[in-house]
Amino acid sequence: MRYSIILWDFDGTLADTLPGLLRIFNDLAPDFGLETIEDVQVLRDTPPTDLLRERGIRWWKMIRLRNAIVRRQKGQIESIRLFPGIHDMLERLHASGYRMGVVSSNSEANIRRCLQSCDAESWFEHIVGSWQPLGKHRSLRRVLRRTRVPSHQALYVGDEVRDILAARRAGMDAAAVTWGSNTRQLLAQYSPDELVDSPSQLTGWLT
Ligand SMILES: [Mg+2]
Repeated sequence: MRYSIILWDFDGTLADTLPGLLRIFNDLAPDFGLETIEDVQVLRDTPPTDLLRERGIRWWKMIRLRNAIVRRQKGQIESIRLFPGIHDMLERLHASGYRMGVVSSNSEANIRRCLQSCDAESWFEHIVGSWQPLGKHRSLRRVLRRTRVPSHQALYVGDEVRDILAARRAGMDAAAVTWGSNTRQLLAQYSPDELVDSPSQLTGWLT
């Protein structure tokens, strides 16, 4: 096996939550004094830090916004599905002996409810859902400490530039998937250890 443990991002990597999240964001945006997002392609092509800076979104506003989004999403989470091919990929990786966990900015309750309804929860030994204003790498490091896996034996799989950066800061390898938030072209600029276009390609690389 390439790694001792694989940690996964949730929204946009395992679960197809982005269209719903965008609708919720646009509903809430006026309450937070933010412009709605009409052009999804801009989101996909822009690193998130630039997006926040351009829009003047401060971290304290991000926390309030994240909490409001998570609360709204809670009511819809059971209707959210995993991307096509994800269930089979997770089943095969688990059967191959990989330890797995989820590290996400969504809430643990939302993640568990979605994974339960998709019959996938039992494959994960750790599910961490918390938004870290100072970066996702802190959550990754915390899980690695708990699992006692050295960082160089661990992989983080995500759909955004910030996932690649968080993995690097935690000393882990990073795989980026092109079916989520950011485009292939943008992700490639940050040189992930593996850039994959389908769950079966990722399974092939890992097994
Ligand atoms: Mg994501």
